Amino acid sequence: MNFTTSEYWSLWEESGVELESVKSQKKKTPKLSSLEDVQAWLGDCKRCGLCKERNKIVFGSGNPKAQLLFIGEGPGADEDKQGLPFVGRAGQLLTKIIEAMGLTRDEVYIANIVKCRPPQNRVPEPEEIHECLPFLKAQIELIQPKLVVALGLTAARALTQTENNMGNLRGQFHSVAWRPELQVMPTYHPAYLLRNPSAKKIVWEDMKKVKEALA
Ligand code: URA
Repeated sequence: MNFTTSEYWSLWEESGVELESVKSQKKKTPKLSSLEDVQAWLGDCKRCGLCKERNKIVFGSGNPKAQLLFIGEGPGADEDKQGLPFVGRAGQLLTKIIEAMGLTRDEVYIANIVKCRPPQNRVPEPEEIHECLPFLKAQIELIQPKLVVALGLTAARALTQTENNMGNLRGQFHSVAWRPELQVMPTYHPAYLLRNPSAKKIVWEDMKKVKEALA
């Protein structure tokens, strides 16, 4: 007998038998009580091709109970060497932005959409983002930030799961796609600001909205 896919799934549901694929999906996410657990789950990750050329995995850093979470695209050369996010030139500018908001890097948390450096700093591929996102999702669950700032288009799109451009996304809060009560402010990436310093005032407008929402 031939079944369509949806008929097949409803038959399985009615049967009460747990599918092997569902069981293995459940097994995939271990019990995670701390960021250290997430890091242990990530391990010496080889889930996508980015592992081939990376030196260090850049897990994220900052206050594990931060109210504000900054999310960039992926590590660059300096971050890949040190294993820490935003430590190169763009990172120094991010530090200035954070300090201008009256905060320090130790008070916020900083992470990336992918945890390994894409070769030649190319934009991460959708499959790479797909493999890495469960770890960022787990970090968000544990940190429980009040707000997120998405630095650049890759982070903005991955968090809102839209295909909008930065001009449309920035300057307003959006829901994080899988956690609608959590709001994200997309803004320009600090690396973009290094190339286009005149956009700094736009980012500052966005960060003022974030500060007001945090107050
Ligand atoms: N750019 C990013 O998106 N993330 C980093 O950690 C560094 C540069």
